[in-house]
Amino acid sequence: MRKPIVAGNWKMNKTMREAESLAESIKVDLGEFTKVDVVLCPPFTALKTVSDVISRSAIRLGGQHMSAEPSGAFTGEISAGMLRDLYCNYVILGHSERRAYAGETDAGVNEKTLAAHASGLKPIVCVGEKLEEREAGITQAVVEAQVKGCLSGLDEEQVKNTIVAYEPVWAIGTGKTATPEMAQDVHAHIRAVVAVMFGDDLAKTVRIQYGGSMKPGNAAELISQPDIDGGLIGGAALDAGSFVEIVKAAV
Ligand code: PEP
Repeated sequence: MRKPIVAGNWKMNKTMREAESLAESIKVDLGEFTKVDVVLCPPFTALKTVSDVISRSAIRLGGQHMSAEPSGAFTGEISAGMLRDLYCNYVILGHSERRAYAGETDAGVNEKTLAAHASGLKPIVCVGEKLEEREAGITQAVVEAQVKGCLSGLDEEQVKNTIVAYEPVWAIGTGKTATPEMAQDVHAHIRAVVAVMFGDDLAKTVRIQYGGSMKPGNAAELISQPDIDGGLIGGAALDAGSFVEIVKAAV
């Protein structure tokens, strides 16, 4: 009932030429495969290049970040409208690296989530606990507060078009993955929180991705959990073969 969605977060990697070649390989390897929604999120500098490569395919484009403001004196920022202009359909918001290095907060992510929807972008809203929070036994409370803070004020249509990415911070880029059971527990809790906010029926439509050292070897088991609807992939998304294997493991 929920179509799986796998997104590649290329972070600050790939020149235009490298991005073109990676996107081309992914497109060729995927061929006619459309059972999973596939999203590529290259750095801003490669959006146009990747957009051109995937223009006549089912692969979709996403930004890694955006401003909540529509335009103006915000040096270094980029707006939802600019992402739409480059044919983006998605945008990653509140990634833990943005929270850690750029001071992003739940309230700020909430503004961006609303701004993304207002421009027709589907936000991929990232939440997840730090290692010390998991060790203190407060994972569910932390993630619940993030979900409530980031998704507040959405209407029905916006809820349906929001993707949540559960990314335990201790698992990102570390090679440590949550076990399928650990991840499923948190995903089920996220869905329960969305149900309290927006009702059961809408909560059932929201896709929740897992992110954190997902690779071809662990993707199928993670994504086969009932509340895990795909993956947000960092390191393994930089290799066409690994990324496509993960995509194909998601059905
Ligand atoms: C990410 O940055 O969203 C991520 C999940 O990274 P990695 O797959 O490298 O852990």
